[in-house]
Amino acid sequence: MKHLLSVKDLGAEGINEVCRLADDFTEVLQRPIPKVPTLRGRTVAMLFYEDSTRTRLSFEVAARRLSADVMGFSVSSSSVNKGESVRDTVATISAMGTDVIVVRHRSAGVPHQVTAWTDAGVVNAGDGWHEHPTQALLDCYTIRDRLGTVAGRRIVILGDIKHSRVARSCVLAFTALGAKVTLVAPPTLLPPAPDSWPVDISLDLDEVLGDCDVVYGLRMQAERQFEALLPSLREYTAQWGLTVDRAARLHPGALIMHPGPANRGVEIASEVLDGPNSTTNEQVRHGVAVRMAVLYLMLGADSQPNQREDEA
Ligand code: ASP
Repeated sequence: MKHLLSVKDLGAEGINEVCRLADDFTEVLQRPIPKVPTLRGRTVAMLFYEDSTRTRLSFEVAARRLSADVMGFSVSSSSVNKGESVRDTVATISAMGTDVIVVRHRSAGVPHQVTAWTDAGVVNAGDGWHEHPTQALLDCYTIRDRLGTVAGRRIVILGDIKHSRVARSCVLAFTALGAKVTLVAPPTLLPPAPDSWPVDISLDLDEVLGDCDVVYGLRMQAERQFEALLPSLREYTAQWGLTVDRAARLHPGALIMHPGPANRGVEIASEVLDGPNSTTNEQVRHGVAVRMAVLYLMLGADSQPNQREDEA
Protein backbone atom coordinates (compact mmCIF):
# COMPACT_ATOMS: atom_id res chain seq x y z
CA MET A 1 0.00 0.00 0.00
CA LYS A 2 1.55 3.30 -1.09
CA HIS A 3 -0.91 5.75 0.55
CA LEU A 4 -3.84 5.61 2.96
CA LEU A 5 -6.16 8.48 2.08
CA SER A 6 -9.57 6.86 2.50
CA VAL A 7 -11.06 3.69 3.94
CA LYS A 8 -11.92 2.94 0.30
CA ASP A 9 -8.18 2.37 -0.33
CA LEU A 10 -8.42 -0.74 1.84
CA GLY A 11 -11.87 -2.27 1.36
CA ALA A 12 -13.00 -5.16 3.57
CA GLU A 13 -9.95 -7.29 2.74
CA GLY A 14 -7.52 -4.51 3.61
CA ILE A 15 -9.32 -3.68 6.87
CA ASN A 16 -9.15 -7.33 7.90
CA GLU A 17 -5.46 -7.45 7.05
CA VAL A 18 -4.80 -4.36 9.20
CA CYS A 19 -6.69 -6.05 12.07
CA ARG A 20 -4.70 -9.29 11.73
CA LEU A 21 -1.42 -7.35 11.76
CA ALA A 22 -2.64 -5.28 14.72
CA ASP A 23 -3.04 -8.57 16.62
CA ASP A 24 0.69 -9.22 16.06
CA PHE A 25 1.57 -5.70 17.17
CA THR A 26 -0.67 -5.94 20.24
CA GLU A 27 1.48 -8.90 21.28
CA VAL A 28 4.61 -6.80 20.66
CA LEU A 29 3.22 -3.98 22.81
CA GLN A 30 2.77 -6.41 25.72
CA ARG A 31 6.44 -7.45 25.72
CA PRO A 32 8.77 -6.11 28.43
CA ILE A 33 10.50 -4.13 25.67
CA PRO A 34 7.55 -3.15 23.45
CA LYS A 35 9.59 -2.45 20.35
CA VAL A 36 10.60 -4.20 17.11
CA PRO A 37 13.36 -3.30 14.65
CA THR A 38 10.97 -3.62 11.69
CA LEU A 39 11.24 -0.07 10.33
CA ARG A 40 14.76 0.76 11.48
CA GLY A 41 16.28 3.40 9.18
CA ARG A 42 12.88 4.63 7.98
CA THR A 43 11.51 8.10 8.73
CA VAL A 44 7.93 9.12 9.41
CA ALA A 45 7.09 12.85 9.33
CA MET A 46 4.13 14.46 11.09
CA LEU A 47 2.51 17.34 9.23
CA PHE A 48 -0.37 18.52 11.42
CA TYR A 49 -2.06 21.78 10.42
CA GLU A 50 -4.92 21.13 12.85
CA ASP A 51 -4.87 20.39 16.56
CA SER A 52 -4.51 16.80 17.68
CA THR A 53 -3.69 14.92 20.84
CA ARG A 54 -4.54 11.27 20.25
CA THR A 55 -3.85 10.84 16.55
CA ARG A 56 -0.52 12.61 16.53
CA LEU A 57 0.85 10.98 19.67
CA SER A 58 -0.44 7.61 18.52
CA PHE A 59 1.34 7.83 15.15
CA GLU A 60 4.53 8.98 16.87
CA VAL A 61 4.43 6.12 19.37
CA ALA A 62 3.56 3.63 16.61
CA ALA A 63 6.51 4.76 14.47
CA ARG A 64 8.91 4.61 17.44
CA ARG A 65 7.70 1.15 18.50
CA LEU A 66 8.66 0.04 14.97
CA SER A 67 12.10 1.72 15.41
CA ALA A 68 11.42 4.35 12.73
CA ASP A 69 12.71 7.90 13.19
CA VAL A 70 10.04 10.54 13.71
CA MET A 71 10.22 14.02 12.21
CA GLY A 72 7.95 16.28 14.25
CA PHE A 73 6.47 19.43 12.82
CA SER A 74 4.42 21.99 14.64
CA VAL A 75 2.60 24.54 12.53
CA SER A 76 2.58 27.07 15.37
CA SER A 77 6.39 27.20 15.51
CA SER A 78 7.26 26.69 11.83
CA SER A 79 7.66 28.82 8.71
CA VAL A 80 3.97 28.24 8.00
CA ASN A 81 3.57 31.31 10.19
CA LYS A 82 5.76 33.20 7.70
CA GLY A 83 3.34 32.24 4.95
CA GLU A 84 5.06 29.12 3.59
CA SER A 85 2.67 27.06 1.47
CA VAL A 86 1.78 23.42 2.09
CA ARG A 87 3.52 22.55 -1.15
CA ASP A 88 6.84 24.19 -0.15
CA THR A 89 6.61 22.68 3.33
CA VAL A 90 6.10 19.22 1.84
CA ALA A 91 9.05 19.76 -0.51
CA THR A 92 11.24 20.75 2.46
CA ILE A 93 10.26 17.73 4.54
CA SER A 94 10.75 15.44 1.53
CA ALA A 95 14.19 16.88 0.77
CA MET A 96 15.34 15.87 4.25
CA GLY A 97 14.38 12.29 3.46
CA THR A 98 11.12 10.90 4.73
CA ASP A 99 9.35 7.67 3.83
CA VAL A 100 5.86 8.51 5.10
CA ILE A 101 4.14 11.85 5.74
CA VAL A 102 1.17 11.78 8.11
CA VAL A 103 -1.02 14.76 7.21
CA ARG A 104 -3.85 16.51 9.02
CA HIS A 105 -5.43 19.61 7.53
CA ARG A 106 -8.66 21.55 7.96
CA SER A 107 -9.45 21.27 4.22
CA ALA A 108 -10.76 18.11 2.59
CA GLY A 109 -8.46 16.74 -0.10
CA VAL A 110 -5.14 18.13 1.15
CA PRO A 111 -3.57 14.68 1.86
CA HIS A 112 -4.51 13.65 -1.68
CA GLN A 113 -2.91 16.82 -3.03
CA VAL A 114 0.26 16.15 -1.00
CA THR A 115 0.75 12.84 -2.84
CA ALA A 116 1.48 14.87 -5.98
CA TRP A 117 4.26 16.81 -4.23
CA THR A 118 6.30 14.00 -2.68
CA ASP A 119 7.60 10.51 -3.37
CA ALA A 120 6.84 9.54 0.23
CA GLY A 121 3.74 7.58 1.20
CA VAL A 122 0.97 9.75 2.61
CA VAL A 123 -1.46 8.94 5.42
CA ASN A 124 -4.59 11.00 5.89
CA ALA A 125 -4.80 11.77 9.62
CA GLY A 126 -7.99 13.79 9.14
CA ASP A 127 -8.92 16.21 6.35
CA GLY A 128 -11.71 18.67 7.10
CA TRP A 129 -15.12 16.99 7.11
CA HIS A 130 -13.93 14.32 4.72
CA GLU A 131 -12.19 11.28 6.26
CA HIS A 132 -10.10 9.98 9.13
CA PRO A 133 -9.32 6.40 8.04
CA THR A 134 -7.07 5.28 10.90
CA GLN A 135 -9.75 6.28 13.43
CA ALA A 136 -12.23 3.98 11.65
CA LEU A 137 -9.66 1.17 11.56
CA LEU A 138 -9.00 1.33 15.28
CA ASP A 139 -12.76 1.42 15.86
CA CYS A 140 -13.24 -1.74 13.77
CA TYR A 141 -10.43 -3.36 15.74
CA THR A 142 -12.05 -2.38 19.05
CA ILE A 143 -15.45 -3.79 18.04
CA ARG A 144 -13.85 -6.99 16.76
CA ASP A 145 -11.87 -7.30 20.01
CA ARG A 146 -14.93 -6.80 22.24
CA LEU A 147 -17.70 -8.45 20.21
CA GLY A 148 -15.80 -10.94 18.02
CA THR A 149 -16.91 -9.52 14.67
CA VAL A 150 -18.11 -6.30 13.09
CA ALA A 151 -20.26 -8.22 10.58
CA GLY A 152 -23.94 -8.28 11.52
CA ARG A 153 -23.58 -5.74 14.35
CA ARG A 154 -26.17 -3.00 14.63
CA ILE A 155 -24.25 0.24 15.06
CA VAL A 156 -25.79 3.63 15.82
CA ILE A 157 -23.64 6.64 14.92
CA LEU A 158 -24.95 9.57 16.91
CA GLY A 159 -24.53 13.32 16.86
CA ASP A 160 -22.79 15.89 14.70
CA ILE A 161 -22.49 13.70 11.62
CA LYS A 162 -22.51 16.60 9.19
CA HIS A 163 -19.10 17.92 10.29
CA SER A 164 -17.54 14.57 11.17
CA ARG A 165 -14.78 12.97 9.11
CA VAL A 166 -14.88 10.16 11.67
CA ALA A 167 -18.51 9.41 10.74
CA ARG A 168 -17.67 9.21 7.04
CA SER A 169 -14.76 6.84 7.54
CA CYS A 170 -16.66 4.74 10.09
CA VAL A 171 -19.68 4.33 7.81
CA LEU A 172 -17.39 3.14 5.01
CA ALA A 173 -15.49 0.74 7.27
CA PHE A 174 -18.40 -0.66 9.29
CA THR A 175 -20.59 -1.26 6.23
CA ALA A 176 -17.67 -2.76 4.26
CA LEU A 177 -17.36 -5.35 7.05
CA GLY A 178 -21.10 -6.08 6.99
CA ALA A 179 -22.47 -4.07 9.92
CA LYS A 180 -25.89 -2.41 9.79
CA VAL A 181 -25.42 1.29 10.49
CA THR A 182 -28.06 3.80 11.60
CA LEU A 183 -27.27 7.52 11.70
CA VAL A 184 -29.07 9.43 14.45
CA ALA A 185 -28.92 13.23 14.55
CA PRO A 186 -31.06 16.35 14.46
CA PRO A 187 -31.93 17.14 10.82
CA THR A 188 -29.52 20.11 10.81
CA LEU A 189 -26.57 17.86 11.72
CA LEU A 190 -27.18 15.19 9.10
CA PRO A 191 -24.88 15.32 6.05
CA PRO A 192 -26.19 16.62 2.73
CA ALA A 193 -27.87 13.83 0.72
CA PRO A 194 -27.80 11.26 3.53
CA ASP A 195 -29.97 8.94 1.40
CA SER A 196 -26.95 8.25 -0.77
CA TRP A 197 -25.15 6.71 2.24
CA PRO A 198 -25.54 2.94 2.78
CA VAL A 199 -27.26 3.49 6.13
CA ASP A 200 -30.63 3.92 7.85
CA ILE A 201 -31.45 7.32 9.30
CA SER A 202 -33.42 8.16 12.41
CA LEU A 203 -34.17 11.42 14.19
CA ASP A 204 -35.19 9.59 17.36
CA LEU A 205 -32.46 8.16 19.56
CA ASP A 206 -34.88 6.62 22.04
CA GLU A 207 -36.47 4.58 19.24
CA VAL A 208 -33.21 2.84 18.21
CA LEU A 209 -31.41 2.61 21.53
CA GLY A 210 -32.77 -0.69 22.83
CA ASP A 211 -31.91 -2.47 19.62
CA CYS A 212 -28.22 -1.87 18.96
CA ASP A 213 -24.86 -3.46 19.78
CA VAL A 214 -22.82 -0.26 19.59
CA VAL A 215 -23.61 3.43 20.09
CA TYR A 216 -20.89 5.58 18.57
CA GLY A 217 -21.17 9.12 19.93
CA LEU A 218 -19.56 12.01 18.03
CA ARG A 219 -18.25 15.26 19.38
CA MET A 220 -20.30 18.39 18.86
CA GLN A 221 -17.83 20.13 16.53
CA ALA A 222 -18.30 23.75 17.49
CA GLU A 223 -15.24 24.80 15.47
CA ARG A 224 -16.92 23.63 12.26
CA GLN A 225 -20.41 25.01 12.81
CA PHE A 226 -20.75 28.17 10.85
CA GLU A 227 -24.46 28.69 11.34
CA ALA A 228 -26.74 28.27 14.30
CA LEU A 229 -27.71 24.65 13.77
CA LEU A 230 -29.23 23.99 17.17
CA PRO A 231 -31.62 25.91 19.40
CA SER A 232 -29.24 25.32 22.35
CA LEU A 233 -26.79 22.73 23.63
CA ARG A 234 -29.16 22.00 26.52
CA GLU A 235 -31.92 21.04 24.14
CA TYR A 236 -29.48 18.97 22.13
CA THR A 237 -28.43 17.02 25.22
CA ALA A 238 -32.05 16.48 26.24
CA GLN A 239 -32.98 14.96 22.88
CA TRP A 240 -29.79 13.42 21.54
CA GLY A 241 -27.34 13.20 24.44
CA LEU A 242 -26.08 9.87 25.77
CA THR A 243 -27.39 10.43 29.26
CA VAL A 244 -27.23 8.01 32.19
CA ASP A 245 -30.92 7.15 31.69
CA ARG A 246 -30.42 6.33 28.03
CA ALA A 247 -27.28 4.29 28.67
CA ALA A 248 -29.29 2.21 31.15
CA ARG A 249 -31.66 1.22 28.35
CA LEU A 250 -28.91 -0.36 26.20
CA HIS A 251 -28.33 -4.12 26.08
CA PRO A 252 -26.02 -5.04 28.97
CA GLY A 253 -23.13 -5.87 26.62
CA ALA A 254 -23.60 -2.95 24.21
CA LEU A 255 -20.53 -0.81 23.57
CA ILE A 256 -20.42 2.95 23.96
CA MET A 257 -17.73 4.40 21.70
CA HIS A 258 -16.42 7.92 21.17
CA PRO A 259 -13.37 9.05 19.16
CA GLY A 260 -12.44 11.78 21.64
CA PRO A 261 -12.10 14.51 22.58
CA ALA A 262 -15.51 14.38 24.29
CA ASN A 263 -17.61 17.30 25.49
CA ARG A 264 -18.62 15.82 28.83
CA GLY A 265 -22.21 16.69 29.67
CA VAL A 266 -23.05 17.68 26.08
CA GLU A 267 -23.08 14.67 23.73
CA ILE A 268 -22.26 12.20 26.52
CA ALA A 269 -22.60 12.22 30.31
CA SER A 270 -19.38 11.90 32.30
CA GLU A 271 -20.68 8.78 34.10
CA VAL A 272 -21.41 7.11 30.74
CA LEU A 273 -18.02 8.02 29.28
CA ASP A 274 -16.27 6.60 32.34
CA GLY A 275 -18.64 3.62 32.71
CA PRO A 276 -17.95 -0.07 32.06
CA ASN A 277 -19.51 -0.12 28.57
CA SER A 278 -17.38 2.75 27.35
CA THR A 279 -14.45 1.73 25.13
CA THR A 280 -12.79 5.15 24.79
CA ASN A 281 -9.52 4.17 26.46
CA GLU A 282 -9.41 0.86 24.59
CA GLN A 283 -9.88 2.75 21.32
CA VAL A 284 -6.84 4.88 22.15
CA ARG A 285 -4.81 1.83 23.20
CA HIS A 286 -5.69 -0.11 20.05
CA GLY A 287 -4.85 2.96 17.97
CA VAL A 288 -1.12 2.35 18.46
CA ALA A 289 -1.19 -1.28 17.24
CA VAL A 290 -3.46 -0.37 14.33
CA ARG A 291 -1.21 2.51 13.23
CA MET A 292 1.82 0.22 13.52
CA ALA A 293 -0.04 -2.12 11.15
CA VAL A 294 -0.69 0.73 8.70
CA LEU A 295 2.96 1.90 8.74
CA TYR A 296 4.09 -1.71 8.34
CA LEU A 297 1.84 -2.19 5.30
CA MET A 298 3.28 0.97 3.75
CA LEU A 299 6.97 0.38 4.53
CA GLY A 300 7.68 -3.01 5.97
CA ALA A 301 7.13 -5.42 3.11
CA ASP A 302 10.68 -6.82 3.44
CA SER A 303 10.63 -7.47 7.17
CA GLN A 304 8.78 -9.59 9.72
CA PRO A 305 6.20 -7.53 11.60
CA ASN A 306 6.93 -8.99 15.03
CA GLN A 307 10.63 -9.79 14.85
CA ARG A 308 12.43 -9.47 18.20
CA GLU A 309 15.03 -6.81 18.83
CA ASP A 310 17.78 -9.45 19.30
CA GLU A 311 16.89 -11.11 15.97
CA ALA A 312 17.59 -7.98 13.91
N1 ASP B 1 -10.40 13.43 16.94
C1 ASP B 1 -11.37 13.25 15.90
C2 ASP B 1 -11.01 14.06 14.68
O1 ASP B 1 -9.95 14.63 14.62
C3 ASP B 1 -12.75 13.50 16.34
C4 ASP B 1 -13.06 14.90 16.77
O2 ASP B 1 -12.21 15.80 16.72
O3 ASP B 1 -14.20 15.10 17.16
O4 ASP B 1 -11.78 14.12 13.75
